[in-house]
Amino acid sequence: MIQAANIKVAVRIRPLLEDEIRQGHTDNKLEVDLNNSTINVMHDRTNVYKGSSFDYVLDQESSQKKVYEKVAIQDLVKQVVDGYHATVFAYGQTGSGKTFTMEGYKYKQNDKGVPVPIIEQGESEGIVPRSIHLLFELIKQQSNLQQKKFTVYCSYLQIYKEKIFDLLNKAQLKRLTNDGPGLKLKWNKHDHFTVENLYTFECRSPDDVLALYHFGIRNKVVSSHNMNNSSSRSHTMLSLTVEQIDAKNPDNVVMSKLQLVDLAGSERQAFTGNVANKESIDINKSLFTLRQVITALTEKKNQGNSNGYVPYRESKLTSILRQSLGGNSFCLMVACLNPCDQYIEENINTLQYAGKAS
Ligand code: ADP
Ligand code: MG
Repeated sequence: MIQAANIKVAVRIRPLLEDEIRQGHTDNKLEVDLNNSTINVMHDRTNVYKGSSFDYVLDQESSQKKVYEKVAIQDLVKQVVDGYHATVFAYGQTGSGKTFTMEGYKYKQNDKGVPVPIIEQGESEGIVPRSIHLLFELIKQQSNLQQKKFTVYCSYLQIYKEKIFDLLNKAQLKRLTNDGPGLKLKWNKHDHFTVENLYTFECRSPDDVLALYHFGIRNKVVSSHNMNNSSSRSHTMLSLTVEQIDAKNPDNVVMSKLQLVDLAGSERQAFTGNVANKESIDINKSLFTLRQVITALTEKKNQGNSNGYVPYRESKLTSILRQSLGGNSFCLMVACLNPCDQYIEENINTLQYAGKAS
């Protein structure tokens, strides 16, 4: 049995975009050594940062398929079907490729300036659609092998300014746009938080989940546009809950969760901003607390200390993820880098954070 929090870290560097190349940006400051999973940040030929404590490093050339295979998503999804919790986070500054890594869809602006996702199956699909397909495949295999009934439930939420909104409930999202209240957290008898009144759907196939996911993505972009392009400042979380009931002993129920999280942009101003400004604190509280929780869990693991305090309750994101981060659960952080030379500081911050998490 796995005793300590099991956190792995991948670093992914996205390629320069055509526009960036046209504007004369270069990516000469990031040097990747794939053999040693090391990233060097160079400045005037001096090595100003050397990061080498990553579990996986993916360079500009890495396709979505390669990322999915290399960071061992298969293992994580398998753990969920075996009854453990698993979480995947995409971390990084705005524009570094978090959403591309998780979703993989292209976006095109419509005539109102709203970015509309072009949802296509295929090569460019990210970790989320690939994991959804795999989850059902593995469940099918397992239900043939074991006398168990598996059921999958899906929910999809967004946290913005420490308020929880339901991406699958348009009426509730509309209240968000009008600065309405978010959904409440409730402490339940199984010793964890649940989100009250969050829509949760039973899904029988990958297509059922994908339909909900795509519906949620469309709601996310519309509400984000209505709220001053809040998408870079909000976290989204797709939750897939797997329930397994033993056919011979129906009281024997195991619940496990796969949480797929696209985090708010980690850019520095997010933390230092105007600290007196309540809004800026709220926007980043979840990201800030996630850092503290991961640091506390890593220290616990390294010191073999199971009593250390982990501040889960200090933010909405970490409260919801409490069950999925500590204990017998698996976690993957994909730290995303924008390779443009001007982001050298941001990239060092991201690498330092990612280094700490591993
Ligand atoms: P974030 O979610 O971190 O703000 P995005 O995922 O939206 O960043 O990525 C910013 C831009 O870069 C988007 O236009 C996206 O399509 C593009 N992009 C990101 N990663 C890649 C990649 N690996 N290959 C090609 N384009 C990418
Ligand atoms: Mg994004």
